[in-house]
Amino acid sequence: MSFSLPPSWSGRTLTGLRTKLLNWFDKHQRDLPWRRAADGTAGGPRDPYRVWVSEVMLQQTTVTAVVPYFERFVAALPDVRALAAADEQRVLKLWEGLGYYRRARHLHAAAKALAEAHVDQLPDDPAVWDALPGVGRYILGAVLSQAFDRKLPIVEANSLRVLARLFGHRGDPRVGAGKAWVWTAAETVLPNARCGDFNQALMELGALVCTPTAPDCGACPLQGHCEAKRLGLQEQIPPKKKPPAITEVSEVGVVIRSGDTLLLCQRPADAGRWQNMWEVPHAPRAGDEDVSDAAVRVAKELTGLDVEPGVEVMTVKHGVTRYAITLVCVEAALVGGGAFAPGSYADAKWVTPADLAAYPVSSPQRKLMTALADPNRQPRLF
Ligand code: SF4
Repeated sequence: MSFSLPPSWSGRTLTGLRTKLLNWFDKHQRDLPWRRAADGTAGGPRDPYRVWVSEVMLQQTTVTAVVPYFERFVAALPDVRALAAADEQRVLKLWEGLGYYRRARHLHAAAKALAEAHVDQLPDDPAVWDALPGVGRYILGAVLSQAFDRKLPIVEANSLRVLARLFGHRGDPRVGAGKAWVWTAAETVLPNARCGDFNQALMELGALVCTPTAPDCGACPLQGHCEAKRLGLQEQIPPKKKPPAITEVSEVGVVIRSGDTLLLCQRPADAGRWQNMWEVPHAPRAGDEDVSDAAVRVAKELTGLDVEPGVEVMTVKHGVTRYAITLVCVEAALVGGGAFAPGSYADAKWVTPADLAAYPVSSPQRKLMTALADPNRQPRLF
């Protein structure tokens, strides 16, 4: 079904809806750091760089989680030139814990591409943005509408829900023809001015009022226009996503030890996830393989080193996409004078536990490394 406005709507209905939503936003929007100018003042002109960084961070991540990361990131790398000049390891370290590290790599690569093209100021030009890595239709619309008031729509989880309910869309607006429907709806409702505010208002309404369950329709500025409310279908629209089937995985991680140091390995640039980040070697256990046997095998297969397994250090449980992973971490002493063999890993270093804080690592690995750096939280290995 392609999008069209309800037949009963006149031009004034749409104008009234826009005014109500913008008025609501002016009154209820949260005071978020990226909504302030670079000098911290509220209500001033938006800084395109801060808008861009925030929108990339906010993809797949909540506002609450993003705020401290955003503040740290823009304090360390305050403009696109600083980001372009930064080492990738620094960018990944600033992003550590936020997840979806591909976003950070794309952001960095895009800043470098702009620097190579001698672009100092982020441009008000959709064609330039469209050619940058990691910039899809959402980022393009979000940045250009907020920073330059370009009339470009955005669709993400919150605005998608508001639009589907407002117009009573019965299909799934996340897939197939539903996707085209929701983008056209987002484009149609946009006003000619304050486009960035309007886009943010739709998202903010979805986050604060038109929530996935129990939307607060009584507090909603759009209640007089809303088809889902009229039909009592707020909870059915949009249809719920089926949760993915979860697969349990048992892994072993090996803390390969030589004196006061342990082997820290760097994942290759073409790894499926956590590219170029650091970790202790880990891999799934084979069937009901004994943890110590698995540690010896994994150390040999991933690093080429022979080890003598020791005590268990800790178990870390974590989820990655549709996998529930139980990572049993085992200490193992280096046996003989073998050398690290690159292949599975791009690089490796012998480091002390105190050095671990400097390297970008995944969240489960950070849990292990925090314990290794604290003599009270591990079996006095270091
Ligand atoms: S009236 Fe209710 S369902 Fe409709 S947009 Fe507002 S909060 Fe959402």
